[in-house]
Amino acid sequence: MVRVRFAPSPTGYLHVGAARTALFNWLFARHEKGIFILRIEDTDIARSSEEMSQVILEGLQWLGLDWDEGPIYQSTRISLYQEKAEWLLAQGLAYECFCQPEEIEIRRREIESRGGVWKYDRRCFYLSPEEKKKMKDKGRKRAIRFLVPPGRTQFKDLIHGLISVDHRQIEDFVLLRSDGLPTYHLSVVVDDLDSGITHVIRGDDHISNTPKQILLYEAFGARPPQFAHLPLILGPDRKKLSKRHGVTSLLHYRDQGILPLAMFNFLAQMSWSPGPEERIYSIEEMIKNFSLNRISKNSPIFDLNKLEWLNSRLIKEMKAEELLPWLKPEMIKRGLWHPSLEKERLDWFRRLLDLNKVRSRNLIDLIEALRPFLTDDYEIDPVGYEKYLKNDKLPQLLPRLKEDLAQLNNFEASSLEKVLRQRASAEGVEASLFIHALRVLTLGRTVSPGIFEVLELLGKETALRRMDLEAALKRLPQNQVGSE
Ligand code: GLU
Repeated sequence: MVRVRFAPSPTGYLHVGAARTALFNWLFARHEKGIFILRIEDTDIARSSEEMSQVILEGLQWLGLDWDEGPIYQSTRISLYQEKAEWLLAQGLAYECFCQPEEIEIRRREIESRGGVWKYDRRCFYLSPEEKKKMKDKGRKRAIRFLVPPGRTQFKDLIHGLISVDHRQIEDFVLLRSDGLPTYHLSVVVDDLDSGITHVIRGDDHISNTPKQILLYEAFGARPPQFAHLPLILGPDRKKLSKRHGVTSLLHYRDQGILPLAMFNFLAQMSWSPGPEERIYSIEEMIKNFSLNRISKNSPIFDLNKLEWLNSRLIKEMKAEELLPWLKPEMIKRGLWHPSLEKERLDWFRRLLDLNKVRSRNLIDLIEALRPFLTDDYEIDPVGYEKYLKNDKLPQLLPRLKEDLAQLNNFEASSLEKVLRQRASAEGVEASLFIHALRVLTLGRTVSPGIFEVLELLGKETALRRMDLEAALKRLPQNQVGSE
């Protein structure tokens, strides 16, 4: 049975690249009806934190990546790694090293000054038992290094193909540091063995670690798992993705109103395509179609426009009922929620959502578009004010239009439109003069869904009340009023 794992180090927020690694592991596990394990690699005690572990769990849960086993915290397993290092030592597959970092540094510089390439020089491997004892008596702490055997290691990466490394390029790497803590190579192999991992799917920045880890599997007398190294995500300038290219924390996008399914599609569609079209695929479709063989080895580009496009497309496709649970918490936070929206006013709220969702890039956009329908606490865009409310004719004509609209018994889009156009032609002005002005007055913005539907949904009382140029002046953002 397939067993895979996601093994983040909790030394920062959950990076979108790491989330994509988790996602491919999860898709593979679900496609193969295998097991997805979560392991927190927190042996770097100084840099890891429980808070960061929680952020990782939160990010995975938000994306919908549920794990079948774990989280396994490596910090609770230190004695196991120590035991395994001692075992390798006892087998003669590893040796004690007493070199201090400063001593190594001096030797490294010397080699490099002569144009050589530094690799640990095995000095401690050649120490006699007496010399070792002397070191220990002096209080020197020992690390344990792996004794790299001569030869060559080859493996067939499921994405990158055959990779082959001469052992002369691999130094005797440290397994256990002098403080008794394991290095990444030791803990990762011990745990992957212990968990029976069949496929290691991770970023291709780990390709160069793989031969060392294969050597360790062999030292433990075990068969290595299969490896699939995912190409790293690049920024639009084809340089390694970094903060320069936009925020790389997964949860930032949740807070910006991106829906998890849009993020899921965005991440999945970097290096893989669930199907022939660029669109939102359901999780079921992605699980069904997933295949490691179809992952491209070319680096994908982190394109935020595409994420927004996927998100707006998804919002458009979702029914009001489906959107509601995603909107509610944020609306509560913004003071825009009222329980009647899911009860007496549900039909109205549905229409409101259907009208506004078509032009929203994210949930926050959508909620802000809803704002003037839900509260009088909205601002008027100063640009819109200048452009559409300062027309000389308005102070005279607007009250006349208001009067006409006030006469209406059925405040419905089609009647509203008729009345407005009649008034415009009676006054010899373009209907757009009224339309633009009403949009700015009632919603505070220059773009919106069709104004007649807007007025209908606002309701007669609110719509008429907002047809007031003086009141509009007070709705300009604070700093703008002074400059009037
Ligand atoms: N903790 C490592 C990382 O975050 C895991 C690498 C691996 O999957 O082996 O990069």
